Amino acid sequence: MDVLAGPRARPGTRALLRATKYDGTAHWIQPFQVVSDDGNLLVASYRARTPIYTSRGEFRSPYDSLVYFWRDRWYNVFRLSRPGCPLALWYCNVTTPPLFDGCQIGYVDLDLDVKVLPNGCYELLDEDEFEVHQKKYGYPPEVIENAEIAARELTEMARKRAFPFSEK
Ligand SMILES: [Mg+2]
Repeated sequence: MDVLAGPRARPGTRALLRATKYDGTAHWIQPFQVVSDDGNLLVASYRARTPIYTSRGEFRSPYDSLVYFWRDRWYNVFRLSRPGCPLALWYCNVTTPPLFDGCQIGYVDLDLDVKVLPNGCYELLDEDEFEVHQKKYGYPPEVIENAEIAARELTEMARKRAFPFSEK
């Protein structure tokens, strides 16, 4: 199936992010409003303090978020800022490519995260969790490979200040 063949989101509509772990258990459910969608890149916003479901309980992020979901990429990028303040950081999640069905954005979280600071410094996080989950969930070799490539691509983009790390 062509991953780009799904519906486009209309600006202003609500969309629910529904991330699972590899076995299908709920990991993260967060409400968004669509900002734009060109058929590949879907951009959505989240208002600080809106309840988020996580596998560790309810969470209310202190950050307003602008999130970049590319339908053909194995990651997403959250631009985080406290309300009324400049950019705090970008938080990137390595995931399977997202599927958008018209109201929900779904993907499998693949543990690895990359934190990027406004000064361009970056940090790869949760490598230990990725290692453990490869065995626990039995990630296929191509999933492991795509996740590792995605993490490298993110750090390279951060180093070069490529989009969306060019957007302060
Ligand atoms: Mg993680």
